[in-house]
Order: sequence, then structure tokens, then C-alpha cells
Amino acid sequence: MKIAVAKEIDPLEPRVAASPDTVKKFKALGAEIAVEPGAGIKSGLPDSEFTAVGATVSADALKDADIIIKVKRPEASELANYRRGALVFAIMDPYGNDAALKAMADAGIASFAMELMPRITRAQVMDVLSSQANLAGYRAVIEGAEAFGRAFPMMMTAAGTVPATKVFVMGVGVAGLQAIATARRLGAMVSATDVRPATKEQVESLGAKFLAVEDEEFKNAQTAGGYAKEMSKEYQAKQAALTAEHIKKQDVIITTALIPGRPAPRLVTMEMVKSMRPGSVLVDLAVERGGNVEGVKLGETVEIDGVKIIGYPNLAGRVAASASGLYARNLFSFIETMIDKKEKTLAVNWDDELVKATALTKDGAIIHPNFQPKA
Ligand code: NAD
Repeated sequence: MKIAVAKEIDPLEPRVAASPDTVKKFKALGAEIAVEPGAGIKSGLPDSEFTAVGATVSADALKDADIIIKVKRPEASELANYRRGALVFAIMDPYGNDAALKAMADAGIASFAMELMPRITRAQVMDVLSSQANLAGYRAVIEGAEAFGRAFPMMMTAAGTVPATKVFVMGVGVAGLQAIATARRLGAMVSATDVRPATKEQVESLGAKFLAVEDEEFKNAQTAGGYAKEMSKEYQAKQAALTAEHIKKQDVIITTALIPGRPAPRLVTMEMVKSMRPGSVLVDLAVERGGNVEGVKLGETVEIDGVKIIGYPNLAGRVAASASGLYARNLFSFIETMIDKKEKTLAVNWDDELVKATALTKDGAIIHPNFQPKA
């Protein structure tokens, strides 16, 4: 059983899919591990850290691998190097990427989209959305603090008092909760909003103030899976009016609102941006899905009347060493379930609900029900 750790070809992707810790764990299960040269370097893991725990480092690592682990979906140029029948694990970004799914099917690989992992108790250790969103939420506050020209905590000094920074977090999922906690740790006065009623208590338990229009629609705004529903136009208008007043008084806004399979909801209009004091900062974590803030640009900091809108993609990648460590552990926990521990061989149970939920392609076809080619 040969497992290969791919080097990411996207220059903007610093994460890696393995750590010395997971290499050791895979080896204990009988696997041989080969790492592409330099795969971990941007996460602070030189090749020597992998060889020290028994991996080999080779430019041919992927060629005869039974399992290939990656961060991002393989591109056509990478697929040419993969053995037909190899199992490939990555964050596959499958929605709206039909051609890429077909390319993986044509390459004959069995591909698994880690972000489709069901959010059930058994799979918590495999939940890449949570492990990465948590770090992205943390990093968003650090970026906001860096771009904001004032201190976060209230400081009473002989030379005068520095007021506490007001931070508003919009969208309180995994990333938003960590953003609240991080901003609180830095001493900010924090408020937050979400359309899911369950978040009110979570926000308050972190010592932040909750802000939302709490009408009948709000009370029913959560799906059985715990995700947000797309809200009615009427609700969005009421929420916008409430938040518009609040936003005027904020210094730093972190937006994280997402709805699965839909573009990100627009929460902050240009008018709201312009209502903020010069020097204020918005950090939009939803930028890769179209953004929550009007005017946000992917990969850029836009300045409007002195207000900065930060649109960095892949914020988890800006804490790459931590993000890689957690991602590697998520991958190990999933792949471990596909290894026969006695025989030390691969034994995938294609009927397992975690496998069914994540497997995109196999034996030359797209097998996931959500991504079947349209007739
Ligand atoms: P997400 O990234 O899909 O969305 C971020 C947040 O944006 C969500 O809280 C959502 O309600 C909010 N949002 C959407 N539209 C909004 C709007 N118009 N205004 C304000 N906020 C809006 O969310 P996530 O971080 O993936 O978490 C989603 C849910 O999954 C949560 O209930 C979370 O607790 C749950 N979860 C469960 C598990 C598990 O059971 N293993 C693991 C992680 C998360």
C-alpha cells in the first residue's frame, strides 16, 4: 500500500496534506509513504522532516501510488501522472466544475471530496470545513487588526484612554465563532449576527452581543442539517435596515456568511461601507463565493473613502503550518477507515455512508448523485 503526498502546483496554496505525525500513523498501518520534493516547505516542513519519520522523498512519488493525498483538486496536467485506479483525496470544489470532474473520471481515479464529509459525530475528526474555517476565522481577525490603525483593547494610560475597537461578525458558523473568540481575546467589543436562531446563545456565551431581526422566519431559519436557509427578500430587507444602523458605528467587520451550494448572500452594501468611518476595515471570508461585501475583490484590499475591504482567498493558508497539521489529521482519520488493520491492505467499503457522501468518481465514471452529467 503506497501513499503519495503531492506538492501543490497552485502557487497560492501553501498547505500540504501530510504531517510528520500522520506519516508515522500511516506507517504504523503498514503503508509506504512517498513525498514529492518540497511538498511541505511552505508549511514549514522541509523534506528532512518527512524522511526523519520514514517517508521517502521522490519526484516520482505519485506514479505508482495507490493513494494520493492533496489539498486542492488535481488539474489535468497532474492527472496525467496518476495511476488509473488510484484513490485521490482533496478539497475538490465540485460545484459548478463539471469539466474538472469529467477529467478525473476519464483519468480513472477514485476521487474523494473531503468537504462533502457528512457533519455527523463519527466524522467530526474528518471535518475539513471545520478545521480550516476555524483557522480562517482566527486569521480574519488578525488581518483586520493589522489593517486597522488603532489598538483593539481599551487602554487607560497616563497619556489618555484608548477606546476598545468595535468588531462586528456577520455569519456565526465555525469561522464566525472563532472570529468572535479571537476578537474578544484581543480585547475588542464584539457583536455578531446570523440568520440561524441557535447562534444567539453561542454568541452570548462567548461574551458578545447578538443582533438580529427575531421574527417567525428567523425562528425557522435552520435546516435539519444545521445549515442556513436562503432568507426571503423581506427578511433580508429588515435585517439590512437593522444592520445598516449598527454598521455605521463599527470599526472592524468580519463577514463569513455562506449558504451551501449557493452564492454568498450580500450583507454589506456599498452605501453601508461608505457609512463607516475612514480607517475602518472589512474582512470578507466569503470572497471566494462572490463575497458578502459589495465591492470586495478576490485577492485584493480595496479602499473606499478610507475604508478598507480585504478579500484574501484561502485565509487558512495564511496560517499554513497550523492548517496543514489539522487537514493532514482529517485526511488520516478518513483514510484509516479504508485500511484493513490486520491484513495491512486497502479495503474500501463503498457502502459506507462517509464513502458514499464523498466519492465523486470511480472506474471512469462520475458516481456522486449530486454531480451526474445532465442528459
Ligand atoms: P457556513 O460556513 O455554511 O456558513 C457560515 C454562517 O453564515 C452560518 O452560521 C450561516 O447560518 C450564516 N449565514 C448564512 N446566511 C446568512 C445571512 N444572510 N446573514 C447572516 N448569517 C448568515 O457554516 P459552517 O461554519 O459550516 O456551520 C454550519 C452549521 O454546521 C453550524 O450549525 C455548525 O454548528 C454546524 N457544524 C456541525 C458540525 C458537526 O456536527 N460535526 C461541524 C461543524 C459545523
